Amino acid sequence: MTIPKTMKAAVLHAAHDLRVEEVRVPALGPEDVLVRVRACGICASDVHYYETGAIGRYVVNAPMIVGHEAAGEVVAVGEQVASLQPGARVAIEPGVTCGRCRYCKSGRYNLCPQVEFYATPPVHGAMAEYAVIRADFAHPIPDTVSYEQAALVEPISVGIHAARLTDVQPGKTVLVLGAGPIGLLAVVAARHAGAEQVIISDVYPKRLETAERLGVTAAVNVRTDDLAAAVSRLTDGEGADALLDTSGNRSALENAPSLMRRGGAIAVIGLPENDAVTYRMNTVVDKELAIQGVFRYANTYPAGIRLVASGQYPVEAVITDYLPLDRTNEGFDVAMHQKDRAIKVMILP
Ligand SMILES: [Zn+2]
Ligand SMILES: [Zn+2]
Repeated sequence: MTIPKTMKAAVLHAAHDLRVEEVRVPALGPEDVLVRVRACGICASDVHYYETGAIGRYVVNAPMIVGHEAAGEVVAVGEQVASLQPGARVAIEPGVTCGRCRYCKSGRYNLCPQVEFYATPPVHGAMAEYAVIRADFAHPIPDTVSYEQAALVEPISVGIHAARLTDVQPGKTVLVLGAGPIGLLAVVAARHAGAEQVIISDVYPKRLETAERLGVTAAVNVRTDDLAAAVSRLTDGEGADALLDTSGNRSALENAPSLMRRGGAIAVIGLPENDAVTYRMNTVVDKELAIQGVFRYANTYPAGIRLVASGQYPVEAVITDYLPLDRTNEGFDVAMHQKDRAIKVMILP
């Protein structure tokens, strides 16, 4: 197939300035594959860049293609690529690491200081007609997995990584705070790891209903119900073995130790809105709790693809909106302002 010179892409120029425009198709390196992107989810981080032009130390100083939750079809391969052929359907793992540093060598490659992660300035993302990725980060998917489901392997990966870090196992009780896309898919990851009970909390009924479709054993609306009382009732006063915070809410984080069983682990997923959080260390020490940061994921894609392919979990229930690339701005608007209804917005380039 002949590769066009230009393509349409959703390009963030500055805060509140996202344009779908013609840009050059990215150059294919010898170890890369070129993917015709078929689905790309809008993530909270994309929305954050849109709203503020920055996340922490990463600042949008030059036009950047957004999007890092992508899947599509390989249309060309670099001269050194033997593992994939044009026509392969793949989920894109969006952070290319060096493979040489101590983190990469130890398997914790999400901590590689040289990682080039999609849609993290200055690296372009995949909300476009085409994207390049090093071949070993393009993971083949079976025909039974749709491109939209494959794009969800990115947020599912966060849940798998968090479940591993908090030692979620058969028989355990997992409490997930926040029923946005990451929280909802963490439910699936926890169930897949064998959790016996998965409890979730949020304030939006629609999100809690979706959590029920994904198999939570209890959904607590913290606008009307007391979470601590519910957790105590559901765990015979023992508390949760693992808590996965996806809410980023300061008081939720500060209350977390009181919700835990002795020996439990608290995972903080993503950056809380308040950098400074105060813990009662007496509780942390007395219960011997682990407080675990979660930064992206490593070695999760094959497991995430198998999870989706198993057909046991209707992961696509988190997708509430499908829009073509031309309407990406509308997608961002929905993601920002319709949290009572919309969960994951999927762009289909
Ligand atoms: Zn994401
Ligand atoms: Zn590295």
